[in-house]
Amino acid sequence: MQRIAQILVNIATRSINKAFSYLIPVHLDYIGVGWRVVVPFGNRKLEGFIIEVTGEDNSGQTDLKPILDILDNEIWFDDHMMNTARWISEYYLCNLVDAMRLFIPGKSGIKSITTYYVSTDIDFDATASALGLKSTDYCQVFMYINKYPAINSARLEKQFGATVLKIIRYLVRKQVVIGESIIKKTASHRYKNILHLAVTPEAAKAFIDSFSRKTAQCRLLTYLMTHEQLAYDDFLKHNMSHDAAKKIIQAGLAVIEKVQVLRDSYADICGTEAQVSLTLEQQQALAKIVPKMQTKEFDSFLLHGITGSGKTQVYIEAVAIARQNHRQAIVLVPEIALTSQIVARFKARFCDDVVVLHSKLSTGERYDAWQRLRTGQAGIVIGARSAVFAPLSDLGIIIMDEEHEFTYKQEETPRYHTRQVALTRARLAGGVVVMGSATPAVETYYQALHGQHTLLSMSKRIAGASLPEVTVVDMREELRQKRRSVISLPLQELLAMTISRGEQAIILLNRRGYATFVMCRECGHIVRCKHCDISLVYHSVGNILRCHYCQCVESTPEICPACSSRYIRFFGTGTQKLEESLVKLFPGIRIVRMDQDTTGGKMAYDRILEAFTKGEYDVLLGTQMVAKGHDVKNVTAVGIIAADSILNLPDFRAAERVFALLTQAAGRAGRGDKPGRVVVQTYNPEHYAVQAGAQHDYQAFYEVEIGYRRELSYPPYGQILKLTIQDDQESKARVQAEAIIKELQQRLHDQKNTEVIGPFPAPIAKVKDVFRMNIIIKTADLALVKPCILAMGLTVRPNVIIDVEPISIM
Ligand code: ADP
Ligand code: ZN
Ligand code: ZN
Repeated sequence: MQRIAQILVNIATRSINKAFSYLIPVHLDYIGVGWRVVVPFGNRKLEGFIIEVTGEDNSGQTDLKPILDILDNEIWFDDHMMNTARWISEYYLCNLVDAMRLFIPGKSGIKSITTYYVSTDIDFDATASALGLKSTDYCQVFMYINKYPAINSARLEKQFGATVLKIIRYLVRKQVVIGESIIKKTASHRYKNILHLAVTPEAAKAFIDSFSRKTAQCRLLTYLMTHEQLAYDDFLKHNMSHDAAKKIIQAGLAVIEKVQVLRDSYADICGTEAQVSLTLEQQQALAKIVPKMQTKEFDSFLLHGITGSGKTQVYIEAVAIARQNHRQAIVLVPEIALTSQIVARFKARFCDDVVVLHSKLSTGERYDAWQRLRTGQAGIVIGARSAVFAPLSDLGIIIMDEEHEFTYKQEETPRYHTRQVALTRARLAGGVVVMGSATPAVETYYQALHGQHTLLSMSKRIAGASLPEVTVVDMREELRQKRRSVISLPLQELLAMTISRGEQAIILLNRRGYATFVMCRECGHIVRCKHCDISLVYHSVGNILRCHYCQCVESTPEICPACSSRYIRFFGTGTQKLEESLVKLFPGIRIVRMDQDTTGGKMAYDRILEAFTKGEYDVLLGTQMVAKGHDVKNVTAVGIIAADSILNLPDFRAAERVFALLTQAAGRAGRGDKPGRVVVQTYNPEHYAVQAGAQHDYQAFYEVEIGYRRELSYPPYGQILKLTIQDDQESKARVQAEAIIKELQQRLHDQKNTEVIGPFPAPIAKVKDVFRMNIIIKTADLALVKPCILAMGLTVRPNVIIDVEPISIM
């Protein structure tokens, strides 16, 4: 009688998309589905996940290999996690093992190293001479291996170079050398030494009385009698001597115990939170959320609140109630480094109950963080998208702050969207999801209006603060007035006034979509495709413009086709150049720059923001990241340069991005008691996204946008699947893409409202010498298309990337 486990082996080989059978040995008969184990695989030992246990096999004739070991002392994937992983694999068309890997810190629990030694079963001299006849290299490697009891391939490579691998394989195949893999658990534990009494306090007291002069030992014993224990690391702090400890241990009075330390890199942020009484709008929002959480009923909420309306406070109160009910919480933020204020507020309220998952955590720290959640030492996790996979057994609430942010989409396999995973996980766990934003994704808002989420609105800023007044500056007019500075006159005036009052400003340079299109600075004309009404994309290779929809190619113009101006150029000013212009205009101005170049190190964003918050700078200048949810009361001015450059991206979400960016950036101004002012510089002052952004009017934007989406069958009216075909050669990538399109069109031709578009080169058509061709499938219902993708074997083709519901169609 043997139980057999179906196991997925944790290796990143896409073509191995099946489970393997292993015997569950008798001494591990308590394990089952969801356990992580070590299994033999070829000549390696690998991590495996049990996904099924198939009863008992009575034949006894099985030649299956047994599971070697377990990786954890308890089950890793509970039912909710398993089912969420299964859903991810089906919905996003990825391998189940790839979906399961999302639920473990560091992607793999073990590392295996192969070591080699010479077999004892061979005739050494005969083998050596036989190898010598074949080649001196082979013989040398063999002799070298023989010098050691065991040697790993890294050391052999160092000695002989990379070609040694071929030789090793030969020697192993001929069975003169044996390869054996050794498992190393990658997550390293950290321990600390704790000293405590080995005898009763009375006995210790008797010893103290009997010592007359050994004061160091007496003090230590006295301390242990009252405090029970002392960590070795804390000896100095308490002025105790390690030598005394050694002596009392030798005397049998005390012992050292090794205990595991779970690292918490945010331990020192813990503070106290000021009590607030909730506003009416905050109370109303909570009154909807809380009852669902208490009845363990799944529900989802869209908290649509303007910037500064107190959404974060609602999250905090909702999480507090989840915790009172002994349920756990996940708090998702777009990017942890940019949202340290939220982290600090949760820490202030919940202290050690919060675990922060930071992308800069080491695997060990990450492992510890997960361990604190698993063991119930903490019940709240805050992190970016991967936190949605945290191991929580009774998940009461998932908060998703700034739910419209694109960073919630993972851009590598599995290409999941955090929102979808959160909704699925909460549904399986009987928890609630609260998605918050001042600028919800058009799809989410549409779903809320159609009853898929409960819509909660907060329309007032806290304590009567008002939304800032926004001035839209037409940059074409600036040029007509012969003003060529990238900083318009109205923005110059605003900055001068702000600085003179000792207030602060944020300047955002929107660089996304930069230099990919060609625009006339005189009239704002953008070179578009004659056939597709979409901006042409500049390709530096060949200095051409290309339409990503119909493939037509044009040469880059020297003068504007509309007004003959010579000021036609790729739009391009970096933050560094902008900084120089500012310094010229305002000598002595204190500017801090925040962009990819300045924020390389760990927590660099935090340090810049902290210094700015403290008033060490007048101006915070940077790319998109300066627009994210921070709350600096002394910021009264915001300038947005090239607000609309995104509008020229050939992407249906371009307008949504611009609207969100304008609203979010403007939302940084006037959060305290001083009113804020915003200047938006644009070449499209009449565009609805710019207009609505300036008015802080989400509804106005939504009404126009949803009309376009409906007309063109874009989400939420249609669904999109993107295929990317990669090859070393452009022509091969194209041929393969065309073959796939042809087959897709044949298979899908009965389906109404389904279009297969392409192939067209990806905007960065060549990455690391690999060419990429895109195919877009636009359809009313992806559920009908997915079986076809599976049937065509596209999911196991290593050179095909499948992106279900991509963020961008470029
Ligand atoms: P949002 O997340 O919507 O941008 P926040 O939750 O950050 O807004 O709130 C804006 C500011 O108002 C913060 O400084 C916060 O501490 C404060 N605040 C929030 N709720 C209250 C309240 N009920 N009473 C007083 N101050 C509040
Ligand atoms: Zn075209
Ligand atoms: Zn022009």
